[in-house]
Amino acid sequence: MPEGHTIHRAARDQRPMLAGKVLSVASPQGRFHEGAAHLDGQMCLAVEAYGKHLIYQFKNHMALHIHLGLFGRFRTAKLPAAEPKGEVRVRIMSDTHVVDINGPNTCEVLDKAQLIALTKRIGPDVLRKDANPDLAFTRISKSKTSIGQLLMDQSVVGGIGNIYRTEILWRQGVHPLTPGNQITREVFDQLWADSVHLLEIGVKNNSIITVDGVKKSRSKYGERVNIFNKPICPTCDGEIQKFEIAKRRAFMCKTCQPSFSVSA
Ligand SMILES: [Zn+2]
Repeated sequence: MPEGHTIHRAARDQRPMLAGKVLSVASPQGRFHEGAAHLDGQMCLAVEAYGKHLIYQFKNHMALHIHLGLFGRFRTAKLPAAEPKGEVRVRIMSDTHVVDINGPNTCEVLDKAQLIALTKRIGPDVLRKDANPDLAFTRISKSKTSIGQLLMDQSVVGGIGNIYRTEILWRQGVHPLTPGNQITREVFDQLWADSVHLLEIGVKNNSIITVDGVKKSRSKYGERVNIFNKPICPTCDGEIQKFEIAKRRAFMCKTCQPSFSVSA
């Protein structure tokens, strides 16, 4: 699943293509005809990311809300537009560009009240300048749930997915099963700062890079990670433990992330 950096990068890329322009909005695949009709011919005011959600705001106070989920993707190109490729749920066109959205998990039109409700449901987003980390710390410090699970809970912190969760906790030496209420403010601040740092690198490179001082790899996604899906810890050469947190794959190094055993 795309993590927050992907969506912020999409917002950054699509903003100059669409914002401040009158757009044509259609549903080549047909499943979003009705929604598209609310937005077609309207002026787009902003393209913004909130956590893993992308929001296109229009002058008529309507917004297009996209959550890619596991299989969704954006495809952007300059005009002239080619024929839609695959099942294009939404095709957005400005005077210069076309943005196709295939297979999103969520694709809906929101009015102003619904948009406010949505943004309130999303925890402070590590990539947004207006994020208030205190809100996340308050939730975490009152919870017995593991920090590994809390960091991925989008109502607690916006933007962090499984790979960043794993890497941030390892980088900061925090055991993923540490209960939230045992995370001190100091440790939380380190986790928050490292999240901001790593996701900003992710936006810049359009790829997850959590190893200090390296460039994108040549693999399909260009990822460079320390322990996610790796057998050996690069710091201590110890074996990386694999387990699950809330049915998602989790990884940790017993030596570098001490305090709580996996069976705890
Ligand atoms: Zn280690």
